[in-house]
Amino acid sequence: MEFVAETIADLTPSVTLSITSEAKRLREEGVNVCSFGAGEPDYDTPQHIKNAAIEALQGGETKYTAVSGVMPLRKLISKKLREENHCNYEPEQISVNCGAKHSVFNAIMACCDAGDEVIIPAPYWTSYPEMVRAVGAEPVFVETKKENGWKITAEEFDAAMSGATKMIIINSPNNPTGAVYTREELEKLAAVAQSEDILILSDEIYEKIVYGEAEHASIASVSPEVRDLTITINGFSKAYAMTGWRIGYTAAPEPIAKAIDTLQSHSTSNVCSFAQYGAIAALTGDQTEVEDMVAEYDIRRQYMLGRLEAIPNVSVVEPQGAFYFLVDIEKMGIKSVNFAEKLLSHEKVAAVPGAAFGHDFSIRLSYATSLPVIKDGLDRFEAFCRKH
Ligand code: PMP
Ligand code: GLU
Repeated sequence: MEFVAETIADLTPSVTLSITSEAKRLREEGVNVCSFGAGEPDYDTPQHIKNAAIEALQGGETKYTAVSGVMPLRKLISKKLREENHCNYEPEQISVNCGAKHSVFNAIMACCDAGDEVIIPAPYWTSYPEMVRAVGAEPVFVETKKENGWKITAEEFDAAMSGATKMIIINSPNNPTGAVYTREELEKLAAVAQSEDILILSDEIYEKIVYGEAEHASIASVSPEVRDLTITINGFSKAYAMTGWRIGYTAAPEPIAKAIDTLQSHSTSNVCSFAQYGAIAALTGDQTEVEDMVAEYDIRRQYMLGRLEAIPNVSVVEPQGAFYFLVDIEKMGIKSVNFAEKLLSHEKVAAVPGAAFGHDFSIRLSYATSLPVIKDGLDRFEAFCRKH
């Protein structure tokens, strides 16, 4: 007898998480590893957020909360989406989940049946296809072009649709490419989705991390009709350095919000009660630390851009958001998993192979790590590229 269900047995573990823990393990063994693996801020959570959670804990916020989250938090998220993102979702349409990863999973599970197709522009965040497969639906990949800044065009979206298409996943700012869609680009994609009533899952977890001229736009702000097709997903992990807290949220059309609530009531119940009070402090408190973190990411980004552009046989598109470089290694004639393994064993540099993102001739370097580590790591990366 097979113990594990077929749909689950076929899934692959998250490479982004496994590389990060492998680098940690090596470091604990005393190996001098430079890790470009983690898609996790290297900062600690701001103190006022920690204080709010501690106060809530001491004050007795130790019970189950409403499944979708405490009302003050849902009201604040609704207000934030209205004021910052220009999309109206009522508090009843908000569901607070155990990290944005859980939000994406809830949204896919609430909307997709076996046989449904979900359009995923590639390169993509590693978990999307596996979540789609986990519910028996089918990922349909659209290879985006480097010359289009790794962004799916309306024409490409239109061509990928079939009678079975249920949803498209848009992730801007993008992991792993750093692409940021303009409002005009989102309007064109929204028009295609509207033409066939396709749901849009908009993963905006990196919204605060944008650079230079780039501006984050929410596709749900295009029009009320588009909002009624869109599940907007965001969270606290990246902007507020709160990865371990596990708080994300979905803002969805009412029937989907209800379905997510029902699903969550039978799975995780609510997000940790006192962590929700930390999230309230994150939204209401001083945003200077967020701005400072982004300014520091930008310094690293610019440093890395200069260094990477000077290395022969690799190329990059300047990232406009998030904290990753997707380095094209095609000219080196070696596939990503092999490249990443050799880079780790020869130079002790950890990076995520592009295969995890549906692009086998690239390597993802995260710059959510300190400048000295970046400098050392790039010296080694450059030496590796010049030798091979
Ligand atoms: N979406 C994207 C694109 C991500 O890179 C991540 C990173 N973990 C998540 C969602 C999930 O974030 P979390 O579960 O930590 O809130
Ligand atoms: N999202 C981050 C990454 O891509 C963290 C790991 C994960 O959740 O997959 O590296």
